Amino acid sequence: MKVAVVGGGVIGLSSALLLARAGHAATVFEPDAGLSAPSWNNAGHLAVEQRAPLASIASIRSVGRRQFRRGGALDLPLAHARTWVPFATRLVAAARPARFRAGTAALGGLLTEALPAWRRLTGSIGEAGLLREDGHLMVWGSPAAAATGRAAWMRAETGGASLVPCRDEDLALLRQVLGNEAAGCARFDGTGAIADLGALHRALRRALAAAGGTIVAERASVVRADGRAGIAGHEADAVLVAAGVGSGTVMQGLGIRAPIVAERGYHLRAAADRWPADAPPVVFEDRSMIVTRYRDTVQAASFVEVAAPDAPPDPRKWERLERHVRELGLPMEAPFTRWMGARPTFPDYLPAIGRATSMPNLFYAFGHQHLGLTLAAVTAEAVAALVDGAASAVDLSPFDLARFAPRKARP
Ligand SMILES: Cc1cc2nc3c(=O)[nH]c(=O)nc-3n(C[C@H](O)[C@H](O)[C@H](O)COP(=O)(O)OP(=O)(O)OC[C@H]3O[C@@H](n4cnc5c(N)ncnc54)[C@H](O)[C@@H]3O)c2cc1C
Repeated sequence: MKVAVVGGGVIGLSSALLLARAGHAATVFEPDAGLSAPSWNNAGHLAVEQRAPLASIASIRSVGRRQFRRGGALDLPLAHARTWVPFATRLVAAARPARFRAGTAALGGLLTEALPAWRRLTGSIGEAGLLREDGHLMVWGSPAAAATGRAAWMRAETGGASLVPCRDEDLALLRQVLGNEAAGCARFDGTGAIADLGALHRALRRALAAAGGTIVAERASVVRADGRAGIAGHEADAVLVAAGVGSGTVMQGLGIRAPIVAERGYHLRAAADRWPADAPPVVFEDRSMIVTRYRDTVQAASFVEVAAPDAPPDPRKWERLERHVRELGLPMEAPFTRWMGARPTFPDYLPAIGRATSMPNLFYAFGHQHLGLTLAAVTAEAVAALVDGAASAVDLSPFDLARFAPRKARP
């Protein structure tokens, strides 16, 4: 079958690879020849501990203290109220205890399979070394913040990942990057990271080509004709929409509701000369910042800014990141490269993975919010099974887009 995959981010490329290996003629449409998508600029953390959807009472209660203008990482710019007010309204509804519990169970189902799926994927592309399973570190700026932070994580549902005291080697590593003792720290065991996102991108493209798949350097225009989905100017028996934050517009054009928003994040990258080569990601929790060592670079990332995806970036965010780096005395030195990009997020913080009820040859996999890298391999396996009508290892019903359809149109 000819399957057109719309979007060559980590979800689209991984899915196309498994579809090609299953014998389909997979063609990825991706206009960006560079590496500017969030897939190749995120924090590299396989965050299997984040099982609770962010549509929660706890997140709503913390909105005040998380505001950017008060030093926090959350920005809801007034100029973009038309974007975030409807999102916030739906989020509040999704945070009701019954929906939160159901969402935690649904996300947990995917997250349980996330690392095993990454083992299979990286192993099968001959890049097992890209998958790190050595956890991550949490750091706090004061003993009181550490006590509060640890207690919150101990109460949280974290699946197979567990918060444990820092080991001697963790303390030594933190001493090296902070120049002194951390006021508070802990480590997560059972979580992972991707050692280098650029290398992952190259390896997935190579593996796709080896499996007979192709990449077309074009923006796909997805059209509907005779009740079926297609790509203008190209032949396709089936279409998979995996276009990250762009997927909302694509689905809307097909008459399918997908109320996704851009949760924009920012990063700074610098040469990694002075950052310990074997360091796992370090989360500076009271600064809402995660620092990741890749092969040649070290990256500091933060912020959730709900705004139009293509609005100009806000330089104050990069300045704030530089200030964090300076105040913490981290061994990250200018010149910094600056990046901004959007997490594709639904108000219930669950992804959309499924097959459209109104168009049987239309499949979708997007809306993975803060967890798109974490969930890419398991999503690809689910998509490959869906397209072939096979049983999926994970219950996909909570991720059906029909959850956003007007009530009278729901199956
Ligand atoms: C600062 C930051 C840190 C993050 N950290 C982590 C982390 O540590 N761990 C984690 O799991 N997740 C993390 N995320 C989230 C993660 O990056 C996203 O969930 C993930 O990138 C989504 O992948 P995707 O393939 O769906 O979309 P994208 O990466 O957005 O890729 C979509 C692609 O589709 C293409 N496209 C769009 N429209 C079309 C069209 N019409 N035709 C053809 N192509 C099209 C785009 O050019 C793009 O390349 C982070 C995100 C940010 C912003």
